[in-house]
Amino acid sequence: MFGGFDDFLMYEICFPGAITGQTEITCPYCETLLTVSVADPMGVDRFACGECTGEFEVDFGEGIIRYDRPADNS
Ligand SMILES: [Zn+2]
Repeated sequence: MFGGFDDFLMYEICFPGAITGQTEITCPYCETLLTVSVADPMGVDRFACGECTGEFEVDFGEGIIRYDRPADNS
């Protein structure tokens, strides 16, 4: 682990070709496959999972999903 620099996690995603209209993204929290609408194929947008309500940010230009570190308390 790299400690203490950024308080979010990210992973890279590969989009199948050009993104137009909408695309499928796997929720970083519960791994549900979500269909999201794409407003700007080179921009950044924020989505909430319909299953676990977790919010995450998708950078379509970079092909990266950023999401909050899951809470470790229960
Ligand atoms: Zn989810």
